[in-house]
Amino acid sequence: SPSRTPDPQALAKAVLAGDRRALARAVTLVESTRSDHRKAALALLEALRGRGGESLRIGLSGTPGVGKSTFIEAFGLHLVEQGLKVAVLAVDPSSARTGGSILGDKTRMERLSRAPQAFIRPSPSLGALGGVARRTREAAAIVEAAGFDVVLIETVGVGQSETMVADLTDIFVLLMAPAGGDELQGVKRGIMEAADLILVNKADGDLAAAAERTRADYAAALRLMRPRPGDPEGWPKVMCVSALTGHGIAEAWAAISELADARRASGAFAARRAEQAQRWFEDELHRGLLERLTGDPRLGQAIAALEADLAAGRIAPSVAAERVIESLFGEGEGAARRP
Ligand code: GDP
Repeated sequence: SPSRTPDPQALAKAVLAGDRRALARAVTLVESTRSDHRKAALALLEALRGRGGESLRIGLSGTPGVGKSTFIEAFGLHLVEQGLKVAVLAVDPSSARTGGSILGDKTRMERLSRAPQAFIRPSPSLGALGGVARRTREAAAIVEAAGFDVVLIETVGVGQSETMVADLTDIFVLLMAPAGGDELQGVKRGIMEAADLILVNKADGDLAAAAERTRADYAAALRLMRPRPGDPEGWPKVMCVSALTGHGIAEAWAAISELADARRASGAFAARRAEQAQRWFEDELHRGLLERLTGDPRLGQAIAALEADLAAGRIAPSVAAERVIESLFGEGEGAARRP
């Protein structure tokens, strides 16, 4: 993390001018939890607000080994060939817990990382998932201001990170592996519902037939779910791709563009963005209020005053909580509303 606080106005200018190192420093700044950095980060975001064009945010999830980095490399290079600027951000819940990263490997996406039109940012090594959501939203805003057309947000298929990434993006893509038999892999229903496109990867060589069977199985399984009226076909498309040979990569991009266009035309795209902005605001509001409250010495005193009674069972936990809240805010409507 940066030791000196950078000047947010100068940094914003450099980011807008296309300076790569400034871009990296800007993302580092929003990842920092230091309060002086936080102030500068907010000034930076404000200076960049409304800059850049309309970008497309694509979420990509899949279990380790399914071929995410290989796919992103092939897909990213395809977009670059179309003249698009591509940023890749990683959300890795394993790195948040252990400091070790599934996604952070430096040798990943080597060719894409060398492309001047691409920017790849590995997951930060520490921070809770809530912090990861903030960092990802803000990093996405920064790369968009810097003129990137597509922001790919990658995550592993574990924990809540998939739902979080689906909530931060316009289109959520699920990458799957060919199944061995005719059995569907244990995909959580919620993830299937969040998916806008399912890609069965490794559809090449000996795995091609299995990939096609898996594709048909998922397509059939999706038909059992509620159709989405706004989308062209009602259900997410399921397609075969090979990140290794490039088979289906152009078709996958065409399907994503088509879906984005349909949603732009129907207003669903803007509505989803507005909902996300509202949730972003609420998350930050809750976080900020909680920080202020937990930092308030009156809270500690009020809690300490009740601790002995609570431990001895002389006061019910919910009554104690209400009493602490009242000591801070007085008797409010909150008490009346509580059943
Ligand atoms: P990640 O953990 O999801 O990022 O997966 P990787 O991209 O690291 O790929 C895991 C392994 O699968 C590597 O050995 C890749 O070479 C292989 N792989 C990835 N994509 C394909 C593909 O389309 N076809 C085949 N046959 N192998 C692939």
